[in-house]
Amino acid sequence: MRKVKIPECWICRDLGIIVYKKEAHGQLYDTAISCVCKKGEENAAFMARIKDDMAEVVAEENFKEWAKYFPEEAKKILKSKREVGA
Ligand SMILES: [Zn+2]
Repeated sequence: MRKVKIPECWICRDLGIIVYKKEAHGQLYDTAISCVCKKGEENAAFMARIKDDMAEVVAEENFKEWAKYFPEEAKKILKSKREVGA
């Protein structure tokens, strides 16, 4: 059985940074920004911080991607979220 690893932070998956494609001058560039979590704080001094609305989208996408591999655990997480009313 595969060991389930649930990230503490869904935005950066505990990496502290988020890398995304940014278009500038007709080209796509990899851009890194720091996360809002504890790990991200280590990077906040030398890179921009992710905006709240973008963080929400990224967290949701990461969760969906993760849920493909761990559907049972994802269900449990969603259930517990509903129970705390989040
Ligand atoms: Zn994070």
